[in-house]
Amino acid sequence: MAIVTKAMITCPECGHGTAETMPTDACLFFYTCPNCSSQLRPLPGDCCVFCSYADQVCPPKQTGQPCS
Ligand SMILES: [Zn+2]
Repeated sequence: MAIVTKAMITCPECGHGTAETMPTDACLFFYTCPNCSSQLRPLPGDCCVFCSYADQVCPPKQTGQPCS
């Protein structure tokens, strides 16, 4: 099963989109927008910033594994 590791994460503060590579073995809980320096955190119920703000869910979710 192919895992997508490239994601476009969109900052909710300034709307800036950044192409990022997602780690396959961990969830990214904090992300700093390179455009406005906002500290992003996952929305309630989401495990990582990619699930909340990117156009792809994180690799652990893609493979059906629980996120830590
Ligand atoms: Zn931003």
